[in-house]
Amino acid sequence: MGKKSGFESSCVNCGSTLDLGSTYCPRCGYHQRPELGSESGGLAPPKSRPQRSPAIAVALAFLIPGVGHMYAGEWGTGIVFLLAAILAAASMVIFVGFILYPIVWIMGMIGGARAVERFNFPDRF
Ligand SMILES: [Zn+2]
Repeated sequence: MGKKSGFESSCVNCGSTLDLGSTYCPRCGYHQRPELGSESGGLAPPKSRPQRSPAIAVALAFLIPGVGHMYAGEWGTGIVFLLAAILAAASMVIFVGFILYPIVWIMGMIGGARAVERFNFPDRF
């Protein structure tokens, strides 16, 4: 006792001294719940997951919608966002077309009528 008292722990079931890092009691076999770490024992330790910056995700999403989600590993959502952005961009082109085409259409009719008038009555112009 006393050589590394701060680093040793005792079995929560039988109270026997456990080695550092041991998850099962060598005497009774009781599974020791780790004091620090995730609540889901048995899965991969959370330290193995690399941390990713939300700021980088925002910057990527600012450049290309959906890439922020892909950066976060949500590839499905990212692809949906990317396709939605492409459709939105295409709809903007169509919307602009709905404004520009009637202008060109009406201008063409008016200009065509005036061109015919210039052709028919060149003395008036
Ligand atoms: Zn034990």
